[in-house]
Amino acid sequence: MSTIERAEVLIASPGRNFVTFRITTSDGVTGLGDATLNGRELAVASYLRDHLVPLLIGRDPARIEDTWQYLYRGAYWRRGPVTMTAIAAVDTALWDIKGKVANLPVYQLLGGRSRDGVMVYSHASGSDSAELLDDVARFLDLGYLAVRAQAAVPNVKGTYGVRKGTVYEPAATALPDEQPWDTPAYLDFAPTYLAAVRERFGFGFHLLHDVHHRLTPVEAARFGKSVEDLRLFWMEDPTPAENQEAFRLIRQHTTTPIAVGENLSSIWDVQHLITEQLIDYVRTTVVHAGGITHLRRVFDLAALYQVRTGSHGATDLSPVSMAAAVHVDISVPNFGIQEYMGHTPEVAEVFHSDVRFENGMLHPSDAPGLGVEYDDDAAARFPYDPRYLPVARLADGSMHDW
Ligand SMILES: [Mg+2]
Repeated sequence: MSTIERAEVLIASPGRNFVTFRITTSDGVTGLGDATLNGRELAVASYLRDHLVPLLIGRDPARIEDTWQYLYRGAYWRRGPVTMTAIAAVDTALWDIKGKVANLPVYQLLGGRSRDGVMVYSHASGSDSAELLDDVARFLDLGYLAVRAQAAVPNVKGTYGVRKGTVYEPAATALPDEQPWDTPAYLDFAPTYLAAVRERFGFGFHLLHDVHHRLTPVEAARFGKSVEDLRLFWMEDPTPAENQEAFRLIRQHTTTPIAVGENLSSIWDVQHLITEQLIDYVRTTVVHAGGITHLRRVFDLAALYQVRTGSHGATDLSPVSMAAAVHVDISVPNFGIQEYMGHTPEVAEVFHSDVRFENGMLHPSDAPGLGVEYDDDAAARFPYDPRYLPVARLADGSMHDW
């Protein structure tokens, strides 16, 4: 029987930090899993290195479900982003190995294709409406079928979602950047630039918007109502989701579709959102929600309630996560959309991925497993670089949700 012989935590910062987990079997087969928890990377690295690696050595790599249950139930301390990201890294690496052993791409092991490609959306942004409109035009010219639109709120320095330079990378400073927030200014401004996008480009593409947890339920309800005529594909994270019940109020007041879940890590975190049909899209991801094994469980629950998938895909999801996401997305019946921001050339030096963008869609690799290789020599040129996500404060100095 093949056994797990080696398991390594690999940390590299090709422009941003990535934690990668690599499992090697006694037959010499390797599998990769993403273990990146943006701004808290070393907690997951330690969880893996100090607590999970000793449990994995000698185990049968083919027993993916049993390993998942062993690590989840065996911890006694359940759920939470650190635990679920660590388990996800192991799970994803084992799926990669299973594909390589079977000589099949992972999506074939998940039931094969349910569609020809995976529709993605990317991020258009601008320091004002005019700049945003130019950026939307750029993404439509690149063939995107769906675009997220964000513009800087006047007098709100460092508004979330607005790119500085060529890459949107919010985890950019050695200590958290403190950014102001002004809800009334946002509520006045955001509907105007979303309307300007529709006015200039029409309705022949999907328009998305991220509220980034900034509103109370009643503010979110008001926002959703105010943009109903613009037919958004979704408004994302209109209010923080710890209290799932809060979405009922939003739901009762607006037909603007709702997407939630990028920072949630288990099926129990989205249980009521899904079963009570309080959302339209669930944004849980392979890397932060327990790997392919657990994410499929979330998506299957969602399918019962006509909730579609819309996984997170920001730059902190490594090419290993993006590849795994595309294998899942292409196979599940209730796929909705996939976030995709692409990666820089430095990231591509470390991670060689065969995922392909064409006509607004991503296509999985047909290589056995996930189709991603990790270049250790390239990674050695990019040592770990501590970074934090920003925090937000209101004008009176109180902390707000970033
Ligand atoms: Mg988001």
